[in-house]
Amino acid sequence: MIMIEIMQTLDERYSRQILFPGIGAEGQRKLAESRVAIVGCGATGSVLSSLLVRAGVGYVRIIDRDYIEPSNLQRQVLFDENDAAEALPKAIAASRKLQLINSTVTVEPHVEDLTPSNCEDLLEDTSLILDGTDNFETRYLLNDYAMSERRPWIYTAAVGSYGVTLNILPGKTACLACVFPQAPEGATETCDTGGILNSAVNMIASIAVTEAMKFLVGAEVQMRRTMLSFDAWHNDHSEIRADHARADCSVCQERKFVYLAGRAHPHISLCGRNSVQIHERHRPVNFAELEARLAPHGEVRSTEYVLRFVRSPFELTLFPDGRAIIKGTTDTGVARSFYARFIGS
Ligand SMILES: [Zn+2]
Repeated sequence: MIMIEIMQTLDERYSRQILFPGIGAEGQRKLAESRVAIVGCGATGSVLSSLLVRAGVGYVRIIDRDYIEPSNLQRQVLFDENDAAEALPKAIAASRKLQLINSTVTVEPHVEDLTPSNCEDLLEDTSLILDGTDNFETRYLLNDYAMSERRPWIYTAAVGSYGVTLNILPGKTACLACVFPQAPEGATETCDTGGILNSAVNMIASIAVTEAMKFLVGAEVQMRRTMLSFDAWHNDHSEIRADHARADCSVCQERKFVYLAGRAHPHISLCGRNSVQIHERHRPVNFAELEARLAPHGEVRSTEYVLRFVRSPFELTLFPDGRAIIKGTTDTGVARSFYARFIGS
């Protein structure tokens, strides 16, 4: 009896989607049984996760290394001013919000940087991986992993008023390295340097979600076999064919997984906005102890999720596993010595 009531409630929730012939009752059931990983939960990831959770995808894993800042709110539609004031990790704030939107699905947050050593654990038991990252290094790692395991993923990127997306189906389409053997010109331009229009990123992410839904309901044949890009401000639009692999692609053809092997993965990296990320040491940190120790040296406060230490001109955000983002420099040496001095070496 209770089961019937739950079924009726779900039918009501998804009724307009079930009416859509491309989904139907069978498609809805498949969405409920789907498991998706979203890597990166900024502007793109906000749209990917929000729409998929609303659509009834049964399990969504959110992987993000960053915390929320006021400058995110213009485009990262899952977050609000309280999240920014608390500097909540994006994965945590996103999963809270997503579970308020739909409590009938499972959302699992991971406050982590995707690395060669954790990507199998974080991605293996999902049927589709979605790119919500903002950098080519992580995308190449994702591509290596997906090609090595023959797993589908969807590339999505946006900067300025420009957005681009590509469905990557192993053995059936090009992979990211087929299209971009090296990171494309201008890839170094980020939201932090080139600015970004909220509508452009929301539009390209919405297109990627539609492709994801096609895949999840078994309508793979309907998926786009091109790399689609558009400029929402200048009304430019283009599609290039991506329906087969490049014969000499080092990743999907020669199966050389340089990023997955970890050779290209630095432990210290620039992460935009005048910041450096340090994740050399994985060791748990005791926030209470550290807060007491740092108090004489600057402004410090901590929550369950992050410890914030401000000592002009630097601002250090520390996560419980010892990873840190140091704002106020792009010099990795300076960041490393600040970390060593106050957190430990
Ligand atoms: Zn390839």
